[in-house]
Formats: sequence, structure tokens, C-alpha cells
Amino acid sequence: MRIVVVGAGLGGVAAAVGLHRTGHEVTLFERAAELREAGTGIVVMPNGLRALDTLGLAESLRGHDMRAPQGGLRDRLGRPLLVSDLDRALQVVGTPAMIDRTELHRALRAPLPAGLVRTATSVERLEPDSTGVTVISEGEPVARADAVVAADGIGSRLRAQLFPGHLGLRRTGRMDLRGMLPRPPGMAPDLLVSQLVDRRTGAMFGLFPVGEDRLYWFTDSLLDGPPPGADEGRRQMLSLTADWHPLVPALIEATSPADIYVDPIARLAEPLPSFAVGRIALLGDAAHAMPPDLGQGSSQAFEDAAALTRHLTGGEAADVARRFLAYDAERRPSANRIMRAAARQSRLTSQTGVTAWLRDMLLRAVPARLTTRRLAALWQA
Ligand SMILES: Cc1cc2nc3c(=O)[nH]c(=O)nc-3n(C[C@H](O)[C@H](O)[C@H](O)COP(=O)(O)OP(=O)(O)OC[C@H]3O[C@@H](n4cnc5c(N)ncnc54)[C@H](O)[C@@H]3O)c2cc1C
Repeated sequence: MRIVVVGAGLGGVAAAVGLHRTGHEVTLFERAAELREAGTGIVVMPNGLRALDTLGLAESLRGHDMRAPQGGLRDRLGRPLLVSDLDRALQVVGTPAMIDRTELHRALRAPLPAGLVRTATSVERLEPDSTGVTVISEGEPVARADAVVAADGIGSRLRAQLFPGHLGLRRTGRMDLRGMLPRPPGMAPDLLVSQLVDRRTGAMFGLFPVGEDRLYWFTDSLLDGPPPGADEGRRQMLSLTADWHPLVPALIEATSPADIYVDPIARLAEPLPSFAVGRIALLGDAAHAMPPDLGQGSSQAFEDAAALTRHLTGGEAADVARRFLAYDAERRPSANRIMRAAARQSRLTSQTGVTAWLRDMLLRAVPARLTTRRLAALWQA
């Protein structure tokens, strides 16, 4: 079949590889002038790794296992609030991978023949009819396809075209800063794979190892007005975390603004009624944009890509719509469940005042055994 994938982010690239490898004639459109994924680290959960494995792509993540003795939620001084036994969770569900985003994207797209990718092409709309879909860019048809996969990310224009009555994105009123830097020599592993929360401000700081010699950190805090630039965002976070565990401001300070990314956080205001409309299917953030709090965004996109590939394998142009409905039935319930869980997690960590004080009291009382089980369930997704 002739299949067009719109958007060469992590999800679109994984889908294009799966569909190409199963014998379809794939064209991948990307609006950016070059294929690349910018910025920092990304955790790929065991469910995402399994999906990549079925696409023959897990090799790219070998050697990036995220190992740490303990993880969990801590207060701003680094004292445990909710501790999980990571080793035990890893035994149950497998090990997540923590990898540089740019490296991950490069490895995922490596199997794609160059001729299949069309960069600098922004798809503005799709025109479906009874025999296929015409893909329009800058007012002109650029392709004709039997099936289209819309993987155009959180701000998906194609989602808005398919579901004009949908409420679209909702800002959560928070922003995240992300940074990556060399691991300081001799740094103790105590805070790795931990998230520190401050109940006075609802701000959060997370820290993860990327390989042996780099660290990835992120912050989550209130966004009041338009998002700041990296310089200003860094200054704000330094001021918010000045009296936290000393490693936190030290790591933010040691990261150059050029290596810091600022994202205002948004999610779908309501779940989509379907991930497929006729010959068009949605994938990744286009289908289920969620706050990053569970680190499941890319893993869900990889699960979509694996499911789409499976449902389209051996398919013919005449039965695309039926196969896409099967994809929707498989993926929508679980992706939406994770989207809701991510929104809950975001609310839990961003509480302030008395609610946050109560949260911390309750969290301290939860036995590590239960947290570990919950963590394993989320990683299994
Ligand atoms: C702060 C932060 C931290 C995160 N951390 C994690 C994490 O640790 N683990 C994790 O799994 N997830 C994480 N996520 C989420 C993860 O980044 C996303 O879920 C994932 O990248 C989505 O991939 P995608 O392919 O669906 O969309 P995108 O990566 O957004 O790709 C969409 C692509 O489509 C292109 N495009 C858009 N419109 C058009 C058009 N009209 N025509 C052609 N091309 C178009 C874009 O240029 C882009 O290349 C995080 C997100 C944030 C904001």
C-alpha cells in the first residue's frame, strides 16, 4: 500500500520504519528543513522498549539501561517522601532506557532510505475520498495515499482537521525546563532517578543519569504569563531552588542556557473520540498529548507505531478503514488511561500549602512495597 506518514518526530519515524519494513511504499513528510530531534535526555519505558523491539528497533537502545539503587519522590532537601525499590520494579517489568534524544532519533531513523523522506514540507490538510487520500501542502497536492498516519505532534493541525469540534489543547499552567550536562566527578548517586518537590511553591526537580558520564535534569513549575527564554527560565529556577538540596541549584547553574529547553506544558483538553477516521489514523502526541510526568509520551507513541504496523501488515487498500478501527480499539483505551494517569501525577506533584503538607504526610506512610508495585504497573502500561 502507499502510506504517507506526516511528522518525523520519534513516533512518526518509528511508524515509518515499521511500515517500510513490512513492505509498504512509505513517504514521510516533515515540515522542518532537516530530520533531527533537539534536546536533552528521554526515558523510554519497558513498554516502549518492547514496542520498539517488535519494530526491530530496540538495538538502538542497548547499553542505555537506566540503573539506580533507589528512586522516588523526595522533599526539596532530598529527604524521601515515597521510596520505591527500583531493583525490584526492574525485575518485574524490565529496565527503562535513558538516552540522549538526538541519539535516539538518529538511531531510529537510520533504517529509512533517504528517498522516502520529504523534509521542508508542511502538510496543511488531507483530502480523503472513496479511493484514497490526497495530501496537500502549500495549496498543492504533494502525494496520493491509500492510508495516512498523522504523527504531527502535540499541536497537530491534522487532528484539528479531523475533529473540528474537539476542544484541542489545554495549557496546564506549568512549564518545564530541561537540561543536560557532564556528570560532576565523584558525585554521590543519592538523588539519581528521584524527583524533589517543594510544597511551598509546587515546583519539582528530577534527576536522571544518561550513560555513565552525563546527567539529565528537568524542572516543573508554575508558569505565569508567556514562557520565558532559557536564560530567564534558568534564573527563575535558580531563585526558586536556592534553599533546596545544594546539588539542585549547583546543577542548574552548571548548565549553559544554550543547553536548556523551556516548554510550556499542555495536554489534550479531552480524549479524542477515535484515533482513526476512515483512511487516516492519528499517532503519538497528535492522538494523546499528555503532561510528561510519567515519562510515557514516547513509549505510547512507540506502542502506537507497533500496533499500526501490525494491523496494516498484509493489508490492502480496500480494507484500510477496518484495520484502522482495529488499531483504534487496541490503542485508545490504554493510551487514554495513561494520559489521565499523567494528568493525576502532575496534579499530585504540583500541590502547594496544606494539601501538599497532607500529601507529604500520606506519602511518607506508604510502604515501599506498594510504591514499587505501582511503579511496575505504570512501567508495564
Ligand atoms: C518537558 C518534556 C519532557 C518529556 N520527557 C519525556 C520522557 O522522558 N519520556 C517520554 O517518553 N516522553 C517524554 N516527553 C514526551 C515526548 O517528548 C513526546 O510524547 C514525543 O516526543 C512525541 O512524539 P511524536 O512523534 O508524537 O511528536 P513530535 O515529537 O512532536 O513530532 C511531530 C513532528 O511532526 C512535525 N510536524 C508538525 N506538523 C507538521 C505538518 N503539518 N507537516 C509536516 N510535519 C509536521 C514536527 O516538526 C515534528 O517533527 C516529554 C515532553 C516534554 C514536553
